[in-house]
Amino acid sequence: MAKRLFEHNDAWESIASRCANEITIVLREVLGKLEAELEDTVDLRDFHYVANHAIGGFVSDLSIMRRLGSGDEQPREIMKHYPRLSTPDTYSHNWYCEASPSSHCAYDDEADPMNDQCIYCGDPRERK
Ligand SMILES: [Zn+2]
Repeated sequence: MAKRLFEHNDAWESIASRCANEITIVLREVLGKLEAELEDTVDLRDFHYVANHAIGGFVSDLSIMRRLGSGDEQPREIMKHYPRLSTPDTYSHNWYCEASPSSHCAYDDEADPMNDQCIYCGDPRERK
């Protein structure tokens, strides 16, 4: 059976607090990327809706996989290739990519650490 984060009278254990901090830091980074791409602040009601949708979808998808599987399934690898927000630091030197849903070349840093092949068009990151 999976480990609970609230085993003792629903009190916040250290690991539950630290987990919440990790999620907060991820949200901070996402908000920064989003507002950089928008070149404006975002309506926080919309940001809240999208964040809840993403967390709910992530957890329910994994719950179903674990219920139907052996119980220790990991999140799907394919989600690394979903279209992403632009990173402000790298936006200016990302290549335009007609085949990519985000319009920029994307690389799988684990399978292709040298970024030799865009996962959409096959072009390398380093070009002349
Ligand atoms: Zn590409």
